[in-house]
Amino acid sequence: MNAEKNKVVSFHYTVTGEDGEVVDNSRDRGQPLSVLLGHGNIIPGLERALEGRAVGDKFDVEVEPADAYGQRNPDAKQRVPRKYFPGANKIKVGDVTVLSLKEGGQRIVTVLKVGMTAVDVDLNHPLAGQKLKFDVEVTDVREPEAVELQHGHAHGTGGHAH
Ligand code: ZN
Repeated sequence: MNAEKNKVVSFHYTVTGEDGEVVDNSRDRGQPLSVLLGHGNIIPGLERALEGRAVGDKFDVEVEPADAYGQRNPDAKQRVPRKYFPGANKIKVGDVTVLSLKEGGQRIVTVLKVGMTAVDVDLNHPLAGQKLKFDVEVTDVREPEAVELQHGHAHGTGGHAH
Protein backbone atom coordinates (compact mmCIF):
# COMPACT_ATOMS: atom_id res chain seq x y z
CA MET A 1 0.00 0.00 0.00
CA ASN A 2 1.31 3.42 -0.91
CA ALA A 3 0.98 6.57 1.15
CA GLU A 4 -1.67 8.97 -0.18
CA LYS A 5 -4.45 11.23 1.05
CA ASN A 6 -6.53 9.58 3.79
CA LYS A 7 -3.99 6.85 4.56
CA VAL A 8 -2.24 6.74 7.92
CA VAL A 9 1.53 6.87 7.47
CA SER A 10 3.99 6.18 10.27
CA PHE A 11 7.59 7.27 9.89
CA HIS A 12 10.79 8.00 11.72
CA TYR A 13 12.45 11.28 10.96
CA THR A 14 15.35 13.52 11.79
CA VAL A 15 15.03 17.25 11.08
CA THR A 16 18.13 19.34 10.55
CA GLY A 17 18.10 23.15 10.42
CA GLU A 18 20.17 25.34 8.13
CA ASP A 19 22.99 25.50 10.65
CA GLY A 20 23.31 21.70 10.48
CA GLU A 21 21.96 21.18 13.98
CA VAL A 22 19.43 18.44 14.60
CA VAL A 23 16.18 20.11 15.64
CA ASP A 24 14.03 17.07 16.28
CA ASN A 25 14.36 13.32 16.03
CA SER A 26 11.52 10.84 16.39
CA ARG A 27 13.83 8.03 17.51
CA ASP A 28 14.64 9.98 20.68
CA ARG A 29 10.96 9.70 21.55
CA GLY A 30 11.06 5.98 20.98
CA GLN A 31 8.29 5.81 18.41
CA PRO A 32 7.59 6.95 14.86
CA LEU A 33 5.17 9.77 14.15
CA SER A 34 1.81 8.72 12.67
CA VAL A 35 -0.16 11.12 10.49
CA LEU A 36 -3.34 11.03 8.46
CA LEU A 37 -2.09 12.32 5.12
CA GLY A 38 -3.80 15.22 3.37
CA HIS A 39 -5.15 16.94 6.49
CA GLY A 40 -2.44 19.47 7.16
CA ASN A 41 -1.21 17.78 10.33
CA ILE A 42 2.42 18.26 9.34
CA ILE A 43 4.21 20.92 7.29
CA PRO A 44 3.13 20.91 3.62
CA GLY A 45 6.59 20.11 2.23
CA LEU A 46 6.87 16.93 4.26
CA GLU A 47 3.29 15.89 3.59
CA ARG A 48 3.94 16.13 -0.17
CA ALA A 49 7.23 14.23 0.11
CA LEU A 50 5.46 11.31 1.82
CA GLU A 51 2.94 10.83 -0.98
CA GLY A 52 3.45 7.63 -2.93
CA ARG A 53 5.92 6.15 -0.43
CA ALA A 54 5.72 2.59 0.89
CA VAL A 55 6.90 0.78 4.02
CA GLY A 56 10.69 0.62 4.14
CA ASP A 57 11.23 3.67 1.92
CA LYS A 58 14.02 5.91 3.12
CA PHE A 59 14.53 9.36 1.70
CA ASP A 60 15.89 12.86 2.33
CA VAL A 61 13.93 15.94 1.49
CA GLU A 62 14.82 19.62 1.71
CA VAL A 63 11.87 21.84 2.48
CA GLU A 64 11.88 25.57 1.73
CA PRO A 65 10.56 27.93 4.45
CA ALA A 66 7.32 28.56 2.52
CA ASP A 67 6.54 24.83 2.76
CA ALA A 68 7.75 24.57 6.35
CA TYR A 69 7.19 27.21 9.06
CA GLY A 70 6.93 30.22 6.74
CA GLN A 71 9.10 33.28 6.28
CA ARG A 72 10.14 35.35 9.26
CA ASN A 73 7.98 38.40 9.83
CA PRO A 74 10.19 41.09 11.39
CA ASP A 75 7.12 42.88 12.74
CA ALA A 76 5.80 39.88 14.64
CA LYS A 77 6.76 41.18 18.07
CA GLN A 78 4.66 41.67 21.13
CA ARG A 79 5.00 42.97 24.69
CA VAL A 80 3.50 40.53 27.16
CA PRO A 81 3.00 40.99 30.92
CA ARG A 82 5.62 38.99 32.75
CA LYS A 83 3.08 37.14 34.87
CA TYR A 84 1.95 35.15 31.82
CA PHE A 85 5.27 33.38 31.57
CA PRO A 86 5.89 30.03 33.16
CA GLY A 87 8.93 30.46 35.44
CA ALA A 88 8.64 34.27 35.17
CA ASN A 89 11.53 35.04 37.52
CA LYS A 90 14.04 32.94 35.59
CA ILE A 91 13.19 34.13 32.11
CA LYS A 92 16.04 35.47 29.98
CA VAL A 93 16.76 36.75 26.49
CA GLY A 94 16.90 33.97 23.91
CA ASP A 95 14.62 31.61 25.83
CA VAL A 96 12.10 29.76 23.71
CA THR A 97 8.91 29.22 25.63
CA VAL A 98 5.27 28.36 25.11
CA LEU A 99 2.54 30.90 25.86
CA SER A 100 -1.14 30.10 26.20
CA LEU A 101 -3.27 32.40 24.07
CA LYS A 102 -6.39 34.21 25.24
CA GLU A 103 -8.26 32.84 22.23
CA GLY A 104 -7.12 29.32 23.10
CA GLY A 105 -4.23 27.25 21.87
CA GLN A 106 -0.55 27.84 22.43
CA ARG A 107 2.25 29.61 20.69
CA ILE A 108 6.00 29.11 20.69
CA VAL A 109 7.78 32.43 21.24
CA THR A 110 11.37 33.61 21.61
CA VAL A 111 12.25 36.13 24.33
CA LEU A 112 13.80 39.35 22.95
CA LYS A 113 13.90 41.60 26.00
CA VAL A 114 13.04 41.18 29.67
CA GLY A 115 11.70 44.16 31.64
CA MET A 116 10.49 44.54 35.21
CA THR A 117 6.86 43.90 34.40
CA ALA A 118 6.78 43.00 30.71
CA VAL A 119 8.61 40.78 28.29
CA ASP A 120 9.09 41.44 24.57
CA VAL A 121 8.74 38.32 22.48
CA ASP A 122 9.24 37.34 18.87
CA LEU A 123 6.10 35.56 17.65
CA ASN A 124 7.80 33.89 14.71
CA HIS A 125 8.11 30.14 14.99
CA PRO A 126 11.75 29.40 15.91
CA LEU A 127 12.11 27.55 12.59
CA ALA A 128 10.49 30.30 10.48
CA GLY A 129 12.69 31.38 7.57
CA GLN A 130 14.74 28.17 7.69
CA LYS A 131 15.18 25.59 5.03
CA LEU A 132 14.82 22.23 6.78
CA LYS A 133 16.20 18.86 5.84
CA PHE A 134 14.28 15.74 6.78
CA ASP A 135 15.67 12.21 6.81
CA VAL A 136 12.67 9.94 6.71
CA GLU A 137 12.04 6.21 7.03
CA VAL A 138 8.50 4.97 6.43
CA THR A 139 7.57 2.26 8.94
CA ASP A 140 3.86 1.73 8.25
CA VAL A 141 1.08 2.67 5.84
CA ARG A 142 -2.48 1.65 6.67
CA GLU A 143 -6.13 2.47 6.10
CA PRO A 144 -7.55 4.86 8.70
CA GLU A 145 -10.28 4.00 11.18
CA ALA A 146 -13.57 5.81 10.49
CA VAL A 147 -13.08 7.88 13.65
CA GLU A 148 -9.63 9.00 12.50
CA LEU A 149 -11.12 10.33 9.26
CA GLN A 150 -13.81 12.08 11.29
CA HIS A 151 -11.21 13.74 13.52
CA GLY A 152 -8.82 14.48 10.68
CA HIS A 153 -5.79 12.94 12.41
CA ALA A 154 -4.24 9.59 13.28
CA HIS A 155 -4.79 7.84 16.62
CA GLY A 156 -2.74 5.13 18.30
CA THR A 157 1.02 4.80 18.51
CA GLY A 158 2.67 8.01 17.39
CA GLY A 159 -0.68 9.61 16.67
CA HIS A 160 -3.06 11.89 18.52
CA ALA A 161 -3.59 10.99 22.18
CA HIS A 162 -6.77 12.69 23.30
ZN1 ZN B 1 -8.94 12.09 17.25
